[in-house]
Amino acid sequence: MAVTAAPSATAVPALAAAAYRGRFAPSPTGPLHMGSLVTALASWLDARAHGGQWLVRIEDIDTPRCVRGADHHILHTLERVGMTPDEPPVWQSQREPYYAAALRRLDAEGQLYPCGCSRKEIADSLVHVRERHQTLGYPGTCRHGLNGKLPRAWRVRVPDGPDATVCFEDRWQGRQCQDLETELGDFVLRRADGLWAYQLAVVVDDGLQGITHIVRGADLLDSTPRQIHLQHLLGLPTPAYLHVPVVVNQAGEKLSKQSGAQAINTRAPLDALREAGAHLGLSNHAGNIKDWLAQATDGWRTRLSTLPQPAPA
Ligand code: GLU
Repeated sequence: MAVTAAPSATAVPALAAAAYRGRFAPSPTGPLHMGSLVTALASWLDARAHGGQWLVRIEDIDTPRCVRGADHHILHTLERVGMTPDEPPVWQSQREPYYAAALRRLDAEGQLYPCGCSRKEIADSLVHVRERHQTLGYPGTCRHGLNGKLPRAWRVRVPDGPDATVCFEDRWQGRQCQDLETELGDFVLRRADGLWAYQLAVVVDDGLQGITHIVRGADLLDSTPRQIHLQHLLGLPTPAYLHVPVVVNQAGEKLSKQSGAQAINTRAPLDALREAGAHLGLSNHAGNIKDWLAQATDGWRTRLSTLPQPAPA
């Protein structure tokens, strides 16, 4: 699959008129495993069940964690299991000008400040802060100046008081709320190592790609309020969210490269789909991929109707 051209002003995709645009956004830190296949399948099924579009975005900005060739391996695996994106995939590493533009805008609007704290300083100061506010987040040490420290990272301010609480209706998990001030504090958008933070890149890309529905693993549930805060600051719409339960191994750990998850066997794609479907409570007896996916799409529609219905806005 061809790598799309580096972004330029004209390459910004026009916001889609489609009522539904979903995406799967893997980090290429290794081959697809059962945990990531479940997420891919859920996002694909949700898009198909809504007659919508499904995109793939390779999230390769955390370069020290990326594994060479994993991106193409992931795309190949998706193709083997019959899930091909409706547009050519994009790579975040080629979209840095967009993240820089968003950072500049937030800076110009006074939403950012440079932070000179090391991890150790933050950990030490949290001991006091925890006593004061019972918080585990960044205590705001550099909010009012660097005090002679060198700038390391860029942080975005979170609101204080009642405005700090961000709530959303998750289509699977129900209503979620987080107090950005006391649970988290001002968070990093550009890291001390110069890399873009996931929170910024994902919000900019979901916005530019016109994503209307995000389906991903529940390990990202507590990132969502931060992303909604950034969407508000950047004037971007907030998509609908659905976080599927994460797949765990026998020790109860989330499946990941670190917990030793096996790569999907691309020579037995139907078996892989059946196993992924079982994690989502879906099973059918179709004997080929196309039919399995079609029946699973119907199963997903039924599954959705059993989920909690969002409260009226
Ligand atoms: N790249 C993230 C991951 O692989 C997922 C990001 C997202 O779906 O928002 O965990």
